[in-house]
This record gives sequence, structure tokens and C-alpha cells, in this order.
Amino acid sequence: MKQILTDVYWLLGQGFDCNVFIIDSRQESIMIDTGAGSVLNQRFSTASSNIETLKRAIDTKRIKHIFLTHGHIDHIGGILSLQSEVDCMISASSEEALQLSSGNSPYLDPIMNSTCSPLKITKKYDEGDTIAVGDYNFQVFETPGHTKGSLSLYEPEKKILISGDTVFPQGSFGRTDLPSGSSSELLKSLERLSNLEIHVLLPGHMPPVISQSPLNSVKDSFRNAQMMLSYY
Ligand SMILES: [Zn+2]
Repeated sequence: MKQILTDVYWLLGQGFDCNVFIIDSRQESIMIDTGAGSVLNQRFSTASSNIETLKRAIDTKRIKHIFLTHGHIDHIGGILSLQSEVDCMISASSEEALQLSSGNSPYLDPIMNSTCSPLKITKKYDEGDTIAVGDYNFQVFETPGHTKGSLSLYEPEKKILISGDTVFPQGSFGRTDLPSGSSSELLKSLERLSNLEIHVLLPGHMPPVISQSPLNSVKDSFRNAQMMLSYY
């Protein structure tokens, strides 16, 4: 677990885990995505999942809110490992909440099709909502394409984008061939994000990018996606 910005910590996604970000203000903590937890890691005998590392690194009782960028198992599975010790709000988009509450395995885990227990989403976020934690005030953006209900968070003052699996560093972007994925929707989402001024990109996979000046990375992703996806 590494501190990357004031009050922001990052746990690298390894194996089946996505990146996990914790914003730990003095009053409360918010966790963004959870990694796969033991669901896949145990099945494939990975030595230790993100969640185990997380439990050693922070007092999980301080987590008051788990925000899910989308419903894929490598982003949500860790909730099952945390549920017994954390009593907090769990949020996602209305669309992903629908899939999570039904335990729709092909949607939640399209690769391995693991059994997914239904998950109760206690708060739904949609376009235009805001999330405040410490000195950070995030705007919720609906960014469909990787999944229909994918969300991104943008902090306009600090120019931070938390992008889930919609956009990755180095001009890459999320796949669109999984259930509810859409290349045309992803292109629209990338175009929108590419118009934002972004200095910090916190993606669902690959290391974060942190700069004092505007990044071209998301613009590159949009350009690459235009070339690769416009036939769909
Ligand atoms: Zn995903």
C-alpha cells in the first residue's frame, strides 16, 4: 500500500485483482473498488489477495463507503472478504446495482463465470451526483462502454480522474466484448473524458499516472480507440 497523493493510498492490482484506492481523510475513508478478494484468488491458489494486504495495512473499520466503478468480479469480489468486519455504505451505478443484486454471474464474471453471491448496493450514483471526502469533491460521470453501468469520478479542482476499466494509461482503454459492453458507447465516453483537463489518472489496472501538468494519455486513448473501434 503506497501513498500517492495527500490522503490517497494505492494498492497495486496483481493477479486477479484490480487496483484499489483508499481516500483516507481524518473524518472518514472511502475505498474505490476492492479487488477480487478470495473468490478467484483462492480458486487459483494465489498466495495472497489485495484484501489480505489491505487488512494488514489499514484499520478497515475506518472505511465508511465502498464505491464500485463497475460490477466485474475483479473489482467487487473483495467485498465478500470484508463484509464480516466492515459495516459501511456500498455504492455503484443503478445499472450495476441491478446486476450485483441479482448475482448475475455471466455479467459479473464473464471470464471465469464464478458463482457470485447477490450483493446489496446501499447507495446508487448516477450522472451529476457528487461525492465529498476530506478535501476531495468528486463528480460522478456515467461512462458506459466497458460495461453499461461503468462510472468514473472526476475531481475538477485537483484534476484527478478515477477511471475504472474505461481508460488506462499509455493510450489504452477498456475492452468492450464482455456482456453489456459497447464500442460505440466507449468511444463516446472516451471522447468526453478526453476533453477534461487531467493531471492524475487513477485507473482500474496498470499503475497510476501523476503529473503537475495536463496528461495526454486520455486523448491518446480516445485517438487509439477511434482507430481500433470505429468499425463496430
Ligand atoms: Zn472490468
